[in-house]
Amino acid sequence: MKKIIWLVIPCYNEQEVLPETSRQLEEIMRGLIKKDKISDKSKIAFVNDGSKDNTWNIITDLHEKNPMFTGINLAHNKGHQNALLAGLMTAKDYADAAISLDADLQDDVGVIEQFIDKFNEGKDVVYGVRSTRATDTVFKRSTAHAFYKLMKVMGADTLQDHADYRLMSKRALEGLAKYKEVNLFLRGIVPMIGYETDVVYYERHERFAGESKYPLKKMLSFAVDGITSCSVKPIRMITSLGTLVFTVSIVMLIYFLIVWLLGHTVQGWTTIVISLWGIGGLILLSLGIIGEYVGKIYMEVKERPRFIIEKLLYKE
Ligand code: UDP
Ligand code: MG
Repeated sequence: MKKIIWLVIPCYNEQEVLPETSRQLEEIMRGLIKKDKISDKSKIAFVNDGSKDNTWNIITDLHEKNPMFTGINLAHNKGHQNALLAGLMTAKDYADAAISLDADLQDDVGVIEQFIDKFNEGKDVVYGVRSTRATDTVFKRSTAHAFYKLMKVMGADTLQDHADYRLMSKRALEGLAKYKEVNLFLRGIVPMIGYETDVVYYERHERFAGESKYPLKKMLSFAVDGITSCSVKPIRMITSLGTLVFTVSIVMLIYFLIVWLLGHTVQGWTTIVISLWGIGGLILLSLGIIGEYVGKIYMEVKERPRFIIEKLLYKE
């Protein structure tokens, strides 16, 4: 039995790249069908994440001309991770496996066949890993590396240089569906599902057209989300920090006591101001970290939907 594969592509304001992306993907899918590697019921599924431009019209046109294109229209802009999740959860009901990739052709579409070969060998999760980052700017490269380091130190283990270019089998997707958290950080969750995994290496290209939807601000909040949704290490670090500060204050106390006993006057102003600002800063920082988790709990207990599908364009 040939397997039904879905390519799942989240799109937010991608009108500049969609014509080219769809052309390349269609060609690849046709090739794979011809080689008998995948079923002709396979689909290219574009998820429109509440775009403000022509993205949805382009997807509708593609679907009308060729039912290999499937369209999933979200009612709102929910961000890359949720858009991807919406696509994967839809794919789960139709496909034997889904491959997630970006709309901007940065993920080398030439390795899709390798993903499918590994899936046909029986792997449940296949990760795309960047072999080089030569096309990224020095800034993006160094921030990305800092990101992976920070994630590791903070206790959220992710695969280095793997973004969201990956294949997941139906049962891996069913596993993913059991993680109900609102703040879903796919790169942290997928390794938790288990099953047999493999890796495909690829070259990261430059964005085909349009601009990145991940400016520094979004990248930072993505990092914070990733850490807080995978680990409570930052909270433990507050405890260690508190212990350290307390120890320092005891040492200072003993020191000043000795100075006083030796008959000197201790200059008060400096020590008071320094401790005031120091401790004040630490308390604010700790409150911020705790607050981040309280906020997460608040969002989680409400169990709001992660995405709402306004329309599904699907033809057998
Ligand atoms: N994206 C999305 N919703 C958003 C932001 C981005 O669906 O709110 C999609 C975007 O269309 C692209 C993918 O997520 O297909 C990755 O975004 P982008 O290429 O801008 O990120 P970068 O590659 O610069 O990290
Ligand atoms: Mg990109």
